[in-house]
Amino acid sequence: MRCCTCQRYGHGKDRCKKPAAVCVRCGKGGHVERDCSADPHCVNCLGDHTASSNMCPKFLEKQAILRYRIGVPS
Ligand SMILES: [Zn+2]
Ligand SMILES: [Zn+2]
Ligand SMILES: [Zn+2]
Repeated sequence: MRCCTCQRYGHGKDRCKKPAAVCVRCGKGGHVERDCSADPHCVNCLGDHTASSNMCPKFLEKQAILRYRIGVPS
């Protein structure tokens, strides 16, 4: 799961300590992705993609953990 407030993985917005939402694209507050003209900056791995990218190594890591927990046969 990805928090829709701070864009990080591992908790939902109800458990988020961030007082205000940050931009999915650049990870900064005060605007939304639609109004963002900054270069993509992932808050999870600090890479040059958006926090919602499914190419994010942190996202793939979480996916792998989830798959392991559910116990999908390989
Ligand atoms: Zn959060
Ligand atoms: Zn932004
Ligand atoms: Zn990333």
